[in-house]
Amino acid sequence: LGHRTPRDVRITTHVGLVARAFGARKIYIPGGGKNIKKSIERVVERFGGAFEVDTEMKARAVIRKHKGVCLHLTMYGEKLHSSLDEITERSEGKDKLVIVGAEKVPRYIYDLADLNISVGNQPHSEIAALAIFMDRLTNGGWVELDFPGGMKVVPHRDRKIVVKKTL
Ligand code: SAM
Repeated sequence: LGHRTPRDVRITTHVGLVARAFGARKIYIPGGGKNIKKSIERVVERFGGAFEVDTEMKARAVIRKHKGVCLHLTMYGEKLHSSLDEITERSEGKDKLVIVGAEKVPRYIYDLADLNISVGNQPHSEIAALAIFMDRLTNGGWVELDFPGGMKVVPHRDRKIVVKKTL
């Protein structure tokens, strides 16, 4: 939310890469433009999986259209680390729309969100907030995700091993 070109291009691209790697199916970047969409899609093409990038839809429309639960990450929200059970309970089995900001987030987002959630109460970053939130919400399970059709990295202590295009 509130992506500014060119200032936020690198950060927002990384928000997209974190979303994909940690198990999201789609990212909306209102006002993101073609270049940011292309750079995330290039990673999807090389590393697989089915991750979509929408840079056209306006924030209000995304939220209005969303049928599941809307989770806004903000340093002012209720604590992720002490209310994880409740957050999990309220969002389990529902499509989750997670909102992070680039610039100052407008008041209406706090009101439209089902939950405003803080990842600690110090200001840090949308990339860090999203990664920690998704890690907690999946209980670390994102690490085992499979990305069909892409290059597969074979973890190795001192060599770079990549297996091309898996099905
Ligand atoms: N100054 C902006 C504001 O007042 O909304 C926040 C900018 S911050 C660099 C960018 C985004 O990172 C926020 O919109 C929020 O989504 C996320 N963020 C930063 N710190 C956070 C925290 N402690 N907990 C949860 N999200 C956080």
